[in-house]
Amino acid sequence: MFTKEKTIALVAHDNRKKDLVEWSEFNVNTLLNYNLICTGTTGTLIETALKSKLGAKKDLLKITKLKSGPLGGDQQMGSLIAGGKIDYLIFLWDPMEPQPHDVDVKALWRIASVYNIPTAINRASADFIISSPLMDSDYHPIVKNFSEYLNRVVDL
Ligand code: PGA
Repeated sequence: MFTKEKTIALVAHDNRKKDLVEWSEFNVNTLLNYNLICTGTTGTLIETALKSKLGAKKDLLKITKLKSGPLGGDQQMGSLIAGGKIDYLIFLWDPMEPQPHDVDVKALWRIASVYNIPTAINRASADFIISSPLMDSDYHPIVKNFSEYLNRVVDL
């Protein structure tokens, strides 16, 4: 599924999809250096836009599409983070509309925090992540040692 060294996960709520498509078009040449993984609808829109922008180079683009977010895609993404398969999460969320899958979104952000994955929840933060010199370095996020938690005594 993944052929490049690092993987960026991209998701946007409906009212933020235009922003994420624009952001992806602006950063297309950088994004080509990464595996891209998206929730279903976001992935389809980004793929269409970037292929059209890339023209003859469109075959360089490979996007892995999960299920649509509200149908389990956010949870699939969280599972990939727990499995160490995702390095960055760009999730442009909509702060103005309640979402039916709010608990899934929170679960995704929570697991991204557990594994200390660089996460952007708005476009400006996405700009900071994509332009960081650390993107191309051998940076490995420090993950908290959970051994105390794992070895806790549970009363039965
Ligand atoms: P979608 O999911 O890309 O399938 O619309 C986004 C989300 O999780 O809200």
